[in-house]
Amino acid sequence: MNAYLGVDIGSISTKGVVIDEENNILASDYIWTKGNPIDAVKRLMNSLKDQVDNDRVKIIGIGTTGSARKLIGSMLNATVVKNEITAHAIGTLSLYPDVRTIFEIGGQDSKIILIEDGIVTDYAMNTLCAAGTGAFLSSQAERLGVAVEDFGKIALTSQKPTKIAARCTVFAESDLVHKAQMGYKKEDIIAGLCNSVVSNYLNNVGKGKKIYSPIIFQGGVSKNVGVKKAFENEVGTEVIVDKNGHLMGALGVAILSKNATNKTNFDFSMADEEFETKGVECNGCSNHCEIICVSKNHQMIDSWGNRCSKGDLINKKKSHY
Ligand code: SF4
Repeated sequence: MNAYLGVDIGSISTKGVVIDEENNILASDYIWTKGNPIDAVKRLMNSLKDQVDNDRVKIIGIGTTGSARKLIGSMLNATVVKNEITAHAIGTLSLYPDVRTIFEIGGQDSKIILIEDGIVTDYAMNTLCAAGTGAFLSSQAERLGVAVEDFGKIALTSQKPTKIAARCTVFAESDLVHKAQMGYKKEDIIAGLCNSVVSNYLNNVGKGKKIYSPIIFQGGVSKNVGVKKAFENEVGTEVIVDKNGHLMGALGVAILSKNATNKTNFDFSMADEEFETKGVECNGCSNHCEIICVSKNHQMIDSWGNRCSKGDLINKKKSHY
């Protein structure tokens, strides 16, 4: 059976799926990147390998997306490397063909994608402010002594959410400490934090955007029912969370690799290879470009970061570096 692999790698989490010709998910996983994308993708491959019938399943297309997509694309010899906006839109459209708005909140960034008739018409990303992201919620959960998985459920028990400053992490954190010291109930503070995440999102990434239904909410934070409810209160309509919402980017690039003309023959053995990245400065001119070199078993397999062909290390056929 022909199958397709999609990997979405971010600084916080790494997601992967294997799909068949009908986009059915045969294997999937969501793991922490732990600051080491090379190790994360190897762990992901081992997990996916254990989930599929390797005698029956033949991976002929590979797509990568996310902030480390180029690096991982080189490691996996990907047939498609795509930005997150396209990947998320394609993944979501495969399950919700009439989707108009995608809210996405991940570990360290957030985005909004607007779609009309199956085509992306507008989008915005926020990679600078951490106040509305999963990493922010995790740190606040730890501060309050609550497991982040329980955050949403606790928020739903609140009768009177506390107002928490949402503009930036520093204000939100000091406001949270202040409210806790004043004796506000934990559930009210947590509900207030969920509201502040939504308000931050709509006032930053969502600023000036016309939001139409159906709305799909995805990314790691979509698992938080408190944030989902806060979105619904704010936009006044249903916000849909799919059970595979955390995998949409990976699903999207897997589908894109299926539609691509170039094909591959992948067997998961890359998990046993030795990969390394190294930054090399080009001194060819005053730009001093930092060229990223990727090696596999000490042989350079890819390089990028050069602004002109003088710094094109991979085409200079350097076998060692
Ligand atoms: S790669 Fe080109 S632009 Fe960059 S430092 Fe080298 S010579 Fe200059």
